[in-house]
Amino acid sequence: MPPGLRPSSLVKVRKQVESNLSSLLGKPVGVLQLTVFAMPCGCVGVSLETRNLVKEDVEVFGPKIKELVRSAARRILEDKPNVYYARLAPSGYDVVSVTGRVACDECREELEDAADLLTF
Ligand SMILES: [Zn+2]
Repeated sequence: MPPGLRPSSLVKVRKQVESNLSSLLGKPVGVLQLTVFAMPCGCVGVSLETRNLVKEDVEVFGPKIKELVRSAARRILEDKPNVYYARLAPSGYDVVSVTGRVACDECREELEDAADLLTF
């Protein structure tokens, strides 16, 4: 098992990314769950379920948030995502999750056109 996938390492990365997001945005941002996923098409990624993160945060701090997600994903996947996106709540205001994904070509195109996603 790659060291980044050890449960103790996942716990550490979750805590660190939560703390870094809160510092970056100057407010408490919760990362309630860090999920590592693999899909039938070959896409893999790391997803962070967030609280108190809104669309505007991602619009303003997109590049910085991307750095944080990239660093977390690299530690876990030992690879660099090629797509980053925030999933919006039906309100279109709250961000439900932030994901870094090493996406296959087909998914990459779909993700960039998805209505409930904000790619950054
Ligand atoms: Zn895919």
